Amino acid sequence: MFSKEESIDLREKLIGESCQLFFRKNPLKIVRAQGQYMYDEKNDAYLDCINNVAHVGHCHPAVVKAGCDQMSLLNTNNRFLHDNILLCARKILNTLPENLSVCYFVNSGSEANDLALRLAQIHTGNKDVIALEHAYHGHLTSLIDISHYKFDLPGGVGQKEHVHVAPIPDTYRGKHRDSDHPSDRLGHLYAEEVKYLCDKIRETGKGVCAFIAESLVSCGGQVIPPRGYFNEVYDTVRSSGGVCIADEVQVGFGRIGKHWWAFQQYDVYPDIVTMGKPMGNGHPVACVVTTKEISDSFSKTGVEYFNTYGGNPVSCAIANAVFDTIEAENLRENAVVVGEYLLDNCQMLAKKHKAIGDVRGVGLFVGIDLVADRESREPDGRCAEFVHRRMREEHVLITIDGPHCNIIKFKPPMVFTKENVDAVVSTLDRVLKEYRETSELFAVNTAKAPPSGKATKEPQHRPIKSMLEKQKIKSI
Ligand code: PMP
Repeated sequence: MFSKEESIDLREKLIGESCQLFFRKNPLKIVRAQGQYMYDEKNDAYLDCINNVAHVGHCHPAVVKAGCDQMSLLNTNNRFLHDNILLCARKILNTLPENLSVCYFVNSGSEANDLALRLAQIHTGNKDVIALEHAYHGHLTSLIDISHYKFDLPGGVGQKEHVHVAPIPDTYRGKHRDSDHPSDRLGHLYAEEVKYLCDKIRETGKGVCAFIAESLVSCGGQVIPPRGYFNEVYDTVRSSGGVCIADEVQVGFGRIGKHWWAFQQYDVYPDIVTMGKPMGNGHPVACVVTTKEISDSFSKTGVEYFNTYGGNPVSCAIANAVFDTIEAENLRENAVVVGEYLLDNCQMLAKKHKAIGDVRGVGLFVGIDLVADRESREPDGRCAEFVHRRMREEHVLITIDGPHCNIIKFKPPMVFTKENVDAVVSTLDRVLKEYRETSELFAVNTAKAPPSGKATKEPQHRPIKSMLEKQKIKSI
């Protein structure tokens, strides 16, 4: 409808400036998508390594059909009986430990986490929340308050009295590192930090309301907490009167492959689990699952809960189709196989490129930590910026995150293939070589910092093109 230039102009005028936009200086106008590919207004394809929301693949026909069919039949709120919400609750509960037995349907990850906090406050009678450094849990006021990733920014709202921030259990560049301690001590060292906060809260005569953490910390830089961490933390928090909330909004629904939920890899039992993003494959649907005891505390207040759109028949038809597609297409198995292949190939790349300090991941949740110096582990945000921009020019979409903006994040749709991995890794190999060459050239010529980066060669995006040709999907 609008040319790309018109879209940019109109967006500037009509949409709040603080609304995030990828590649703000030269944004992408994506007009359609299929599987793990997105297409711009010129019909150029991009390989999507970003969208954990399009979990079973963009516009999956089974999901689209389920939504359309239900939309043409009935959509109303859940104050009427309907089977879709029951089927959906049953599917979710079948994947969780038995103690998690009651569902509340909402529309977004933020709503899910806000309700989780409310449940925790009502159940414990406490207000103080422990969250992780660099964590993000959503855009509602209650969640910005507990999201160090946002409240701690210059211009952020700052740390509120009821909020306590535990060090991120990042064994590569966090407070306790694998270079300083044996790996089997790290879980305990980081758990002790949470114990310290629990004790501090109690010393002031208050009680702990909740500990909330992602089971793998995504915004904090694709961090994999050390073995034993959650087990010890959950025990400490409970003995301090609090409940444990696992935020599975990004990392749930089988992304780690071996399990449906990332907390299951640690053999812990959260009191509340929140889920969202992948649940509707792009449609807004999310859920809070909790124990009968916590749910009973909520109902005993006598205040009824109502959510106009949460758990409506269309949302639940879509979520049910997502579940069925994960099973029918063995997407968890795919996450194990392709995730391992991605991890192995990135680790091989680390042997060639000193800029890669650490490669970590589980299933299709993988991070690459870029460093200026391997010894000191000094983060290299400049390299990350270069890689981000050049990969996009090569038609591979990745994101960069972490407190130093130096972590390459991979969280692609679960239909990602080994061939996609080959394309990503060969492109990354080329781009990192280019960065090294331009940095060396710049250092020789100017003895100054490396360039933030103009492309040294014309973009090639050969791997993406040949992959699409082979898969014959250019004309979808
Ligand atoms: N929790 C986590 C871990 C998230 O990453 C996000 C969104 N990025 C949310 C909660 C909030 O979800 P939503 O944007 O759907 O409100």
